[in-house]
Amino acid sequence: MQVNEIAGKIKAAGVVGSGGAGFPTHVKFASKAEIFLVNGAECEPMLKVDQQLMAKYPRELIRGIELGMTATGAREGVICLKAKYKAAIAALEPLLPSSMRIHILKDVYPAGDEVITIWMATGRRVPPGAIPISIGVVVNNPLTLINVARAVDQDMPVITRTLTVSGAVRKPLTVTVPIGTSMTEVLAMAGGVTIDNPAYLDGGPMMGKLVNDINQPVTKTTGGLLVFPADHILIRRRTTSMEHILKVAKSTCDQCGLCTEMCPRHFIGHELPPSLIVRAVNYGDVNRPSVLLSALTCSECAICEAYACPVDISPMRLNMALKSQFRAEGSRYVGELNDADPMAEHRLIPSPRLVTRIAVGQYVMDAPLEEDGWRPTSVVLPLRQHIGAPATPVVRPGDRVHRGQLIADMEEGALGVPIHASIEGEVTAVTSQTITITR
Ligand code: SF4
Ligand code: SF4
Repeated sequence: MQVNEIAGKIKAAGVVGSGGAGFPTHVKFASKAEIFLVNGAECEPMLKVDQQLMAKYPRELIRGIELGMTATGAREGVICLKAKYKAAIAALEPLLPSSMRIHILKDVYPAGDEVITIWMATGRRVPPGAIPISIGVVVNNPLTLINVARAVDQDMPVITRTLTVSGAVRKPLTVTVPIGTSMTEVLAMAGGVTIDNPAYLDGGPMMGKLVNDINQPVTKTTGGLLVFPADHILIRRRTTSMEHILKVAKSTCDQCGLCTEMCPRHFIGHELPPSLIVRAVNYGDVNRPSVLLSALTCSECAICEAYACPVDISPMRLNMALKSQFRAEGSRYVGELNDADPMAEHRLIPSPRLVTRIAVGQYVMDAPLEEDGWRPTSVVLPLRQHIGAPATPVVRPGDRVHRGQLIADMEEGALGVPIHASIEGEVTAVTSQTITITR
């Protein structure tokens, strides 16, 4: 199969990175790489998506890697996962061609941060502000590659999403639902909540975003819906005002430096020093402007906030605010890749220790995969489920659509992917942001 044909089918099917911010996959497949890496680390406690999909769909995953290697010219495919994903390893091992291997990652956080995954699996280090392809590596998530195989071999568009529903719910599970299904319905599948003051995270406990509207739809990038009491530390941190964060930082930071020592970007050789950013923000100490600008290279892994700082300061939130400001100004960070910390390997956080530190022990449990065709009566499909420009609707209210039909397309040359109907029914609303389909 020709490279252009692979990329064209992936784009037409609307495949985006399912493990991150939704970068269009056809763009990654258009690069030239030496190593094609699969990030199956799933290092966020409580999430159980990739490990189960790798076990259930090993052939599609390997096919997706083959297509990726063909498109990028990579000579080696490396599937990174953890030893505890035994079912996935048992399913994949007998099928591996000689050009692919499994790399067992330590059970640590943040093994799934792609920069750290690459470092752990290959020893290569992505320079600050750069992307993996700059060092010859392309990284994709297992579900993305399963979607690639389906797009190329079956012309199947991306119309479902698999996510873990866990935490304070009656029946934790991992479900595959039509994209656009409301989170309320997904919660119902998990038997509903078990507490009277629930708060919700979209994603894992470390990097998940607070859900402000539980009726919001599942999108191509929704990997988890986690429920915690509203007064849980993970929720309180996310609802703390910036004013309070600045006050605490100014009054309590003793510059112990632990946040910098444990910052994964810092210990592999990036400048990013969260402790010095806190100091610069507190006292306007900007002798080295690159210190503040290095906030642009923060991965928002939350280690500084949730694990390292002994006095509950959030350097990450400061970084997030700085990033918005710098991006609005069009500022860029340019910095060297320094030597890695000789203790780097020992600074990764063992998963059991992380679970205890962030107080989610009672919520870490099985969430078995169920894919028995949940049929929502209506779905709301956002036009932007990916990095880049939103898709443009090609349907109108009153149109009948079938499952998998194109309903919003991308302009030629724009960064993004089309959107497809995830259920059969009637288009009941089209706005500048969403399309609603009702059975
Ligand atoms: S969130 Fe904190 S620990 Fe993580 S990369 Fe950013 S500064 Fe470093
Ligand atoms: S770990 Fe906390 S107290 Fe120590 S330098 Fe960082 S922000 Fe300050």
